[in-house]
Amino acid sequence: MDLLLFFAKRFVAGKTAEEGMKAVKILNSKNIMATLDILGENVTDKKMAEKATMEYISLLEKIHEEKINSSISLKLTQLGIDIDYDFCKENLEKIVKKAIIYGNFVRIDMEGSKYTERTISMFKELVKKYGNSVGAVIQAYLFRSEKDVNELIKLNARVRLCKGAYKEPPTIAYKKKSDVDKNYIKLMEKLLLHGNYPAIATHDEKIINHAKEFARNNKIGKEKFEFQMLYGIRPKLQEKLANEYNVRVYVPFGKNWFPYYMRRLRERKENVFFLLKNLFRR
Ligand SMILES: Cc1cc2nc3c(=O)[nH]c(=O)nc-3n(C[C@H](O)[C@H](O)[C@H](O)COP(=O)(O)OP(=O)(O)OC[C@H]3O[C@@H](n4cnc5c(N)ncnc54)[C@H](O)[C@@H]3O)c2cc1C
Repeated sequence: MDLLLFFAKRFVAGKTAEEGMKAVKILNSKNIMATLDILGENVTDKKMAEKATMEYISLLEKIHEEKINSSISLKLTQLGIDIDYDFCKENLEKIVKKAIIYGNFVRIDMEGSKYTERTISMFKELVKKYGNSVGAVIQAYLFRSEKDVNELIKLNARVRLCKGAYKEPPTIAYKKKSDVDKNYIKLMEKLLLHGNYPAIATHDEKIINHAKEFARNNKIGKEKFEFQMLYGIRPKLQEKLANEYNVRVYVPFGKNWFPYYMRRLRERKENVFFLLKNLFRR
């Protein structure tokens, strides 16, 4: 496992909060903002969910103390949504209240489609109560996303738009890359025109260039949106973009790095070849 972690470190900042913060400091020095994620998901034990809640609260304190430019991202299955909706909401509210004290921001990542409805429902409850200290994620590969985007725009909610990283059936999701990209662009334009500081989360240069041009043509200022990318993916593009636009990098860390690493491997067959080639070389 240690050998695998060696390779996973391309995408994961390390096992500890200190390693995560160190990565953020380097990004901040390049004019790049961050969002820190404590890796963990699908928790079925109440104690584990409470532990994750405390870890996020402590992380918010550390971010504040060290004066780094970073929000936080979390998953509802990490806070116990599989155990009980209200228990998970209580945990989330504890974190959001702490974030508000420090003027920080909590992004609720979007997981597999089994959780979409519950995640959007909980987000809507929280946004009505706590306003824009909390943000949602929409996945362009889901057929339902246009309706969700329309509703979130009405709530003036902050949305991160991504393509989607989970394996979904063709009954609910676009399967062809060209269809996902087309829907991404459609939702992105809607969010740029009518959304509240949308986060354009992609490493797809064609889509990034489209966003820049669309914003220019529609006189949407650079301060009205941000680009987001993942730690370790296209770092040169991150730096280049940060010279001109708001850029935030998602920095995951923690002991439970395996599922996240598998999603990154699955996204690109070159990553799997690279791993296998190097494992056999050793
Ligand atoms: C900030 C951020 C937050 C996200 N949050 C969520 C979330 O909450 N829920 C969710 O389902 N998904 C999330 N994702 C993941 C997202 O859904 C995609 O799976 C991922 O971003 C790859 O899609 P892409 O938009 O980069 O486009 P793609 O068309 O997949 O890739 C475009 C280019 O980016 C590079 N690239 C993409 N992925 C990799 C990789 N793994 N390794 C190396 N190079 C790569 C390649 O150069 C590729 O040609 C997030 C992504 C980002 C950037």
